[in-house]
Amino acid sequence: MWCPGCGNGTVLGALLRAFEELKFKKEETVVVTGIGCWGKADDYVVTNALHTTHGRALAFATGIKAFNSKLNVVVLMGDGDSVTIGGNHFIHAARRNIDLTAIVVNNMNYGMTGGQVSGTTPSDKLTSTTVYGNPEREIDICTLAEVAGANYVARGTPYHGWELQKVITEALTKKGFSVVEVISPCPTHFGRNNKLKPALAMFRWLKEKAIPVEKYNPVTYPREEGYFPIGRLVDRDAPDFNSRYEEIRARAMRS
Ligand code: SF4
Repeated sequence: MWCPGCGNGTVLGALLRAFEELKFKKEETVVVTGIGCWGKADDYVVTNALHTTHGRALAFATGIKAFNSKLNVVVLMGDGDSVTIGGNHFIHAARRNIDLTAIVVNNMNYGMTGGQVSGTTPSDKLTSTTVYGNPEREIDICTLAEVAGANYVARGTPYHGWELQKVITEALTKKGFSVVEVISPCPTHFGRNNKLKPALAMFRWLKEKAIPVEKYNPVTYPREEGYFPIGRLVDRDAPDFNSRYEEIRARAMRS
């Protein structure tokens, strides 16, 4: 159902190849989605799938994982679902460090409903509800995930398909809350409104501005000029929610 030039198909391809590489069994895998264009991805997978309400995908996924820790639970959300309307669930999933993988496609607007401003629309940019420029500042999804406690945080783009598949594969095997943010084009709304970034121009922009984290230096590549690091940004081993819960349960049983 995705428009020509949309990044969603490429991101889904990377996810499915990662499933294949890791030999995930469909009956042991649950794809949980929110509302929005990327949330329609569950129409194209043959695993268990749950299409939930807007901003609440992580809450449903938390329930699934807490009930059955053996399942591979993958949550597909857009920027609205994850850190705008669903921002509170995102913070608490990271704080709990629950063993879920969130693949967040950040197209910097509400694409499905007509290109409205979202929490990740960059300051000054034009959308259908900020026609003279966005007066607010944008949320950095990766920084939010890191400070809230996620064990693994990475960023990619659909232009860098192989690198994207690599970080998705790492995230899927990481214990604890793992987040992959994918900066992705929405040429139908965000690109069109901004003139500078329709379809092909947006992919050129990703090619120019996305810098591998090993080479990234904020002085050489300032964020104010649109540069951003891609690759693995955070990798740590704090205990996940289910392990902590089992420890405390065992303590309670002994008392
Ligand atoms: Fe993709 Fe934007 Fe079209 Fe949605 S509206 S399918 S995000 S290009």
